[in-house]
Amino acid sequence: MKQQSVDISIAEKFMICGSPISVNSYGNGHINNTFLVTTDTNKKYILQRISDAFDINFLMKNINAVTSFMALKSDNPERQMTLIHTKTDKNFYSDKTGNFRMFTFVENSICLEMPETTSDFYESAVAFGKFQKMLEDFPAKTLTEPIKNFHNTPDRYRIFKETLSADKMGRAKEVKDEIEFALSHEEKGSVLQSLRDRGELPLRVTHNDTKLNNVLFDKNTRKSICVIDLDTVMPGLSLYDYGDAIRYGAQTASEDEKDLSKVNIDFDMFRAFTKGYLSSCDLTENEINNLVLGAITMTLECGVRFLTDYLDGDNYFKTNYSEHNLDRCRTQFKLVSELEKNTDKLNGIIKEILSDK
Ligand code: ADP
Ligand code: MG
Repeated sequence: MKQQSVDISIAEKFMICGSPISVNSYGNGHINNTFLVTTDTNKKYILQRISDAFDINFLMKNINAVTSFMALKSDNPERQMTLIHTKTDKNFYSDKTGNFRMFTFVENSICLEMPETTSDFYESAVAFGKFQKMLEDFPAKTLTEPIKNFHNTPDRYRIFKETLSADKMGRAKEVKDEIEFALSHEEKGSVLQSLRDRGELPLRVTHNDTKLNNVLFDKNTRKSICVIDLDTVMPGLSLYDYGDAIRYGAQTASEDEKDLSKVNIDFDMFRAFTKGYLSSCDLTENEINNLVLGAITMTLECGVRFLTDYLDGDNYFKTNYSEHNLDRCRTQFKLVSELEKNTDKLNGIIKEILSDK
């Protein structure tokens, strides 16, 4: 999203130290407009104009609840997401130019778009694992779902099948193999949801956007500091966060690679993320036993969503060419096949990590 300017008077609405002297665009966020505020006492803050895609009241209630809970546990609040309230003690400020929130600025931090080494990916897993651990006794049920049924895979299948029946673009005939792949995996795709419904996997606070660029790293040590971008925090399964991180980060090609022979599992990245995650949070035995299924389910669900959007005429995901969603669907389904073929090997890696713990 293009960064727009913001009036300095917005920063004055919040309980900051000193008076704001500058407000400049900051970072490479994808959803919100982010600004760095500096005050005359040399304090820095992050000011964000929040995307209209969200229900601001529910969203900020979630973020306020989660950040205050983590603050109680943190031994170093300056290295955590800390929400700054407005002078009227609200957790966001609204006027005709938008909805705004403010966080303290985490000094000496950088964001990475792509892992340069396995250590970067390991460090991101440590941050997401710590986030999970800090919130393990938070009552996840009290959070609102900003996006309903976000990882309800059976519901994603329901939408897929409705879109397939409508076939409004007449594209179904060109993608018979992909449709067949999706349908043949429907049962497997519903296992996590059944385990969740039966209470066999604990309901947790999940982040739901476990990308590398949602972790702050220390500029000097390159160790992770904390997780940011809490817009999609909601009740869910740890396997959603873990599985989605594996989906995007432990494979060897880009999401829209046309040459499927290039789409494989990156075992070093898989090991790195799994090690970082398992070393920093405590999962139940059932969660551990289903880690690979988590990666398969998240990848399958993502592929089904790309296929659905392709059949629907590309209305949801931004596309650069007519078969973009189809290419994306194919990489996801190829990765699902690789994860299935290599399940024993991946479980072997998990076992090794646990025995070294
Ligand atoms: P978006 O939802 O648009 O992706 P993010 O919340 O991820 O926005 O933030 C955008 C960028 O702002 C991040 O990539 C990071 O560089 C920076 N950022 C966000 N919060 C902080 C913070 N508390 N301290 C320092 N930098 C931050
Ligand atoms: Mg972000």
